[in-house]
Amino acid sequence: MPTENRTTLTPDTPVRYLKGVGPKTAERFEKLGIVTLADLLCHYPRRYIDFSKPYSIAEAPADTECVVKAEVFAKPGGRILPGGRRMERITAGDDVASLEITWFNNPYATQKLQLGQEYYFQGIVTGGMLRRQMVNPQVRTAEQIQAAPFEAVYPQTEGLSSSAISRCIRQLLPHAELLPDPLPPEMLQKYRLLPKAEAVRAIHCPATEEQAAAARRRLIYEELLVLQLGIGRMRSRGAAVTGAPMRRADPSPFWQSLPFAPTGAQRRAVEEILNDMACDTAMNRLLQGDVGSGKTLVAAAAIWACIRAGYQAALLAPTEILAAQHAEGLNRLLAPFGMRVALLTGGMKAAARRTTLAAIRSDEADLVVGTHAILSEGVEFARLGLAVVDEQHRFGVRQRGMLAEKAANPHLLVMSATPIPRTLGLLIYGDLDISILDELPPGRKPVKTRCITGKKRRDLYGFLDREIGAGRQVYIVCPAIEDTPDGGLNAVKSYYEDIAKALLPDRRVGLMHGKLKPKEKAAVMDDFKAGRLDALVSTTVIEVGVDVPNATVMVIENGERFGLAALHQLRGRVGRGSVSGTCLVMTHSKGNGGASAAQDRLQSLEKTSDGFPLAQMDLRLRHEGEILGYRQHGGVTLRFVDLDADEDLIEWAHLDAVELLRYACNLDSVATRPLREAVAMRYRHIFKEVSGG
Ligand code: ADP
Ligand code: MG
Repeated sequence: MPTENRTTLTPDTPVRYLKGVGPKTAERFEKLGIVTLADLLCHYPRRYIDFSKPYSIAEAPADTECVVKAEVFAKPGGRILPGGRRMERITAGDDVASLEITWFNNPYATQKLQLGQEYYFQGIVTGGMLRRQMVNPQVRTAEQIQAAPFEAVYPQTEGLSSSAISRCIRQLLPHAELLPDPLPPEMLQKYRLLPKAEAVRAIHCPATEEQAAAARRRLIYEELLVLQLGIGRMRSRGAAVTGAPMRRADPSPFWQSLPFAPTGAQRRAVEEILNDMACDTAMNRLLQGDVGSGKTLVAAAAIWACIRAGYQAALLAPTEILAAQHAEGLNRLLAPFGMRVALLTGGMKAAARRTTLAAIRSDEADLVVGTHAILSEGVEFARLGLAVVDEQHRFGVRQRGMLAEKAANPHLLVMSATPIPRTLGLLIYGDLDISILDELPPGRKPVKTRCITGKKRRDLYGFLDREIGAGRQVYIVCPAIEDTPDGGLNAVKSYYEDIAKALLPDRRVGLMHGKLKPKEKAAVMDDFKAGRLDALVSTTVIEVGVDVPNATVMVIENGERFGLAALHQLRGRVGRGSVSGTCLVMTHSKGNGGASAAQDRLQSLEKTSDGFPLAQMDLRLRHEGEILGYRQHGGVTLRFVDLDADEDLIEWAHLDAVELLRYACNLDSVATRPLREAVAMRYRHIFKEVSGG
C-alpha cells in the first residue's frame, strides 16, 4: 500500500511516495520517463511470461526461454566452488525425464523448495536429452500461477529490474481508478472497449491471453484517438485555409526548358499538385516514387509554379550533402527563369548566414534549400507558399505545426521512396493525399545486385579497378565511422586507410562520413562529382538522394547490418546515367540463426528491383517504429501498434476524430472534456494555449 493516505493520492503524485521507492529508485524511474503514479500505471509491459502452458522436460525447446513443470526429486544442498562462488543444485523430474537445475550465488534459491512438490521453472533448457539442465531459473508454485498466470515483463533500466517495477505497479493497481478515462461511455459501448481502470489492471496482470489482448486494444485505441484529434486540431488551426492560394499555373514553359521530356507519371503528379495549390485549403500531399523515379523534377515544377505565383518556396533535405546537391540542381533549372535559390546550412559562416537570412526575410530569395534546421532556427520567410520535404518519413505532425507557424499554413509536399502503408500515413500525417510515380525515366536498367562474402574482396577490387579504368566511379559504403571494440564492423576510417587505399593503389580514393565538417563534406562531394575522385569510401551519409550519374558501382560492406529499404536506397545511387549499375553487397556473417535470416533478406534484394515490396518486407521484419521513427509522435502505447493487426483501430480512431472535431464543438461538451484534456496534455508543446478551446 502506498504510504500516503488513500484520499490524497492523485495521478500526479510523485512515485517516491510509494513504499520502497527512495530517491535513488525515483531517479531510475525518471530515466524510464516515469515521474508520477500515472506514468507508472501507464508503463505497460513489453511482453508476458506465460506460466499457464508449461512444457514437460522432454518437450521443452532447447536454448530458448520457456517454462517447465517438474517435481523436485533431490535436494542435495549447496556448496562453495573454487574461487568462492556458491552453487545450489537440485534435480527435478517428471514421468519421462529429469532436469538438473543450478543457481549461482543465490543461497536462498532452494530454501523453499519441497521434495516431492511440483514447481514451474522459467529459464533456458540446455544439454542433450540425457542431461537436460537449467541455470538460475525463476520458480513459481501452482498457487502463484493460478493467481497470475501471465507475468509482465517491463522495459527496465540499470538498477531497476522488471520484477522491481512489477512490485511497484502491483501495489498501485488497486488505485487504477485514479486515472481519468478520456473515452466517453458511448464509445466504450460502441467498440466494446474496457473502461480505463479495468484495462490498466488487465494489461499489468491479465488472467488470460484474451484479457491482455482486450486491454491492449482499448489502450491503443485511446492513444490513437488522442493522436488523431491532435493531428486534426493542428490541421484545423486556421481551418486548414492556406495562406497561399495560387492561380492555377500552366507548367508548359517549365517542361519546355528541360533537356528531356518528363515521364507521364511526372506530368500526372505535377497536375495533381498544381490543382491542390490552386485550392483554398493547404495541400498535404505525399509524392511516393521509387529511387530514381525523378521526384526532384516534380518538386522543381511545383516550386517553379509557386515562385511564378509570387510566393517563396522551401525545400528541406535530410542531410547537408543532399541539400547542397538540391540547391545546385534546382538553381540550374530555375535560374533561367530569373528565380533565385539560396542554400542555408548549419556550417555557414555567420556573416554569410546573416546575408542569407536577410534575403529570405526580404523576399529576395525565391527558394531556400536546407536541412530541417530551416524550420527551427530563426528563419523568417516573407511569403512562404510551399514547403517540400525530401526523403523524410519522420516529418510529422509536430513539424507540420512548426511549418504552419513559419507562415500562414503553406502547402506541403512530402517526398519519399519508401512506401508508407495507409495506416502508417494516417498515424503520422493524419489524412494525406498521395501521388505516385510508377514509371522510371526511359532507358533505365535495373541495378545488377549480387551478394558476396568477404573472402572475395580481392576479386571485387580487381573489378572495381577495371571499372575505374573504363572511366567510371564507385562507392564503397561501410556501416560505422570508428572501429568498434568487437571489431565486427568495417569502420570507414580504417577501411579507407588499410583496405581501400591498399587495394586501389593507383586510384584516387576519397573519404566521406558524418563527422567531417560541412565544408570538408562539400569539398569531397564536389571532387567526386567533378571526377577528381575515382572511389568514395563513405558511411550511409550518401544513402539518400545523392545523384552522380557517372558512378556505376556500389559496394556495401557488412550488408547484413542494413535494412532492405536502406540497401535499396544505396543501390539507387548507381545506374542513374546511361550505363547500367552494379551493386555488390558484402556479408561477413558466420552461420548462426540470425545470419541465415540476413541471407534470406539479401537474396530478396538480388531478385527484386522494385522498392515497394522490399520496403514492405522490411516493415514486417523490423519494428515499424524503428524504421519510420513515428514513435516520437505518440506515447508509450504507440510502440505496440501493429499496422496490420490494428488496421481497424487506426481507421476507427481517424474517423472518430474527424467526427468529434466536426460535431462535438471542439470537444467542449461535458462528455468529451476528459478527451480534450488528454489531447491538450499530449500536445502541450504545440498548442500553447493550456487545455485550450
Ligand atoms: P529520385 O526520385 O530518387 O529523387 P531523382 O529526382 O534524383 O530521383 O532523379 C534521378 C535522375 O533521373 C536524375 O539524374 C534526374 O535528372 C533524372 N531524370 C528525372 N526525370 C527524368 C526524365 N523525365 N527523363 C530523363 N531523366 C530524368
Ligand atoms: Mg531524391
